[in-house]
Amino acid sequence: MARIAIISCKKIKDVTCVSCMKCFKGVKEKAGEFARYEGQEIEVVAMGDCGDCPGLVMPKLVLIHDLAGVYGREIDAIHLGTCMVRATTTAGCPLKLEELAAKIREKFNKEVIIGTHPW
Ligand code: SF4
Ligand code: SF4
Repeated sequence: MARIAIISCKKIKDVTCVSCMKCFKGVKEKAGEFARYEGQEIEVVAMGDCGDCPGLVMPKLVLIHDLAGVYGREIDAIHLGTCMVRATTTAGCPLKLEELAAKIREKFNKEVIIGTHPW
């Protein structure tokens, strides 16, 4: 069982990427960055956004981490959504995803994957 959290771009989520249907499809089909979980069940434990520009990902993750403790939920890996990749590559997002991923790994000692669905 892979227990994951997905972090999205607040500007894109439910605006141009409606209702996170692409990530739910990706999880179901183990497509894109979810292919790494082939042979395992994927449980989406949390799905939050970046906290809006210029990106409040770290404080948001602290809250998610704390609430996961309160609710007795474990998170094995954190995915930075394909929406965040698109935001940084096509829309002037100020986040540096590689640096952010390294910070998250260091603070939370979790696997961090840049990207989610392939569409
Ligand atoms: S890439 Fe995934 S997390 Fe981001 S808005 Fe689209 S479906 Fe939601
Ligand atoms: S900081 Fe980046 S990921 Fe977050 S809302 Fe702004 S553009 Fe989207």
